[in-house]
Amino acid sequence: MPEPPRALFDQVCQHARQIALLRSIEDVLGWDEQTKMPTAGAEYRAEQMALLAGMIHRKRIDADYGRRLAELAESPLAADPLGDAGATIRRLRRDHEKKAKLPTSLVEELARTTILAQSAWQKARAEDNFNLLAPSLERIFALKRDEADALGYPQCRYDALLDDYEPEMRTGEMAAVLAGLRAELVPLVAAIGASPRRPDRAILARAFPLDRQEQLGRELAQAIGYDFRRGRLDVTGHPFCTTLGPNDCRIAIRYEERALGASVFGILHEAGHGIYEQGLRTDQFGLPLGEAASLGLHESQSRLWENLVGRSRAFWAFALPKARARFPEALGGVALDDFHFAVNDARPSLVRVEADEVTYNLHILVRFELEQAILDGQLAVADAPAAWNEKYRDYLGIVPPNDALGVLQDIHWSAGLVGYFPTYALGNLYAAQIFAQAKAELGPLDEAFAAGKFEPLRQWLAERVYRHGRRLPAGRLVEKITGKPLAPDALMNNLRAKYGPLYGL
Ligand code: ZN
Repeated sequence: MPEPPRALFDQVCQHARQIALLRSIEDVLGWDEQTKMPTAGAEYRAEQMALLAGMIHRKRIDADYGRRLAELAESPLAADPLGDAGATIRRLRRDHEKKAKLPTSLVEELARTTILAQSAWQKARAEDNFNLLAPSLERIFALKRDEADALGYPQCRYDALLDDYEPEMRTGEMAAVLAGLRAELVPLVAAIGASPRRPDRAILARAFPLDRQEQLGRELAQAIGYDFRRGRLDVTGHPFCTTLGPNDCRIAIRYEERALGASVFGILHEAGHGIYEQGLRTDQFGLPLGEAASLGLHESQSRLWENLVGRSRAFWAFALPKARARFPEALGGVALDDFHFAVNDARPSLVRVEADEVTYNLHILVRFELEQAILDGQLAVADAPAAWNEKYRDYLGIVPPNDALGVLQDIHWSAGLVGYFPTYALGNLYAAQIFAQAKAELGPLDEAFAAGKFEPLRQWLAERVYRHGRRLPAGRLVEKITGKPLAPDALMNNLRAKYGPLYGL
């Protein structure tokens, strides 16, 4: 007697929840490693992590689990692909099949190669010597080609790799949108660069005691809707947000006394990720309907709160009095317009992680175009530094003085993350399109923001974005929410509306 579909469905959900349970343990260890662990604990922690990674991988590729999913996919439960059961079955089956297609030897070889490559990258960057990294990168891109071939792809190898971060997004479709964005951004960046107006960004580099930065950050995160009863804020070297359970989503941040912007916008960014996680369905934790749709959509929520809300004049009409109260010496005499201009300082720069809202996407385009060309074999790894510098000159009008500030600045490629970079730009595009729709439905939000009211926007996002989990791929969800396919228009409209008046364009 075959199992009735409902019983089978319960079994696969239980299996998926066990995978989530193991992954959450991995995340607890990861959180501890990045916030509390003494350096000397690293070696044993690596053993703990390797053990868990093996257990998780075996559960994901479990053959019985795969057979049950295949059987369910043919059952009446899966008949409606967008219904709760249908969407859950389809997503779990897709996850399982992807993992099961990868030969263990390839997975292990990639793990070994990327661990070595990351130390090679640190040395290469410290010594500004690309040749120290080049052989590792050659090897990684060769393995990524093997990975794409093992997974299979609809049109090009890059599709297979992009799918890990942005499921079901096609390279061709995304590349067309990004090319459209580039065509409009390059002249805007040049016009800003040529403007005689400059903000007084030194306002943000005055003395801001760290404990008071933390107090302000907490207050602002709470104001926009990050729930501290189900979260926490800690100190770390590289800011992040991690989810350890259905009611435990934590953010961590870095403070510097003379960089108020880094902590405030870092907290708003990570709290934005956290608000998305906290808005997911807790009853579906560990299952597709309780998980974020993609990295790009995740980034859209951090960018929305950081840039579209957090760098607006209305937001600072609310927040500047709070900041002045914490820092009367540094900000007592600073006017709202001057502060608003300072937090929207835009100028071509060499380092992606320090880039402003306008130029950021051009940094991403350089990386996306190069990694695509290397993967396709159109660009040799050895020629990457020169190609990098040429693109910086063409798009941003500046040329890195050395490779440490150029092609060697990011860890992603040496960590095997190929296809990851464009999700940052997708995040900005999704955010702008979603925010425009929120304003179209809720009416202008500036007055509410200036009064510290963020609940209507947060509720709207919970309803329209968060509670769907990954029922739909992110691109299709955004299209459904906004009624339009992904395009650069909303992002460019926002940028022109803000930066035009600031820079007198
Ligand atoms: Zn982020």
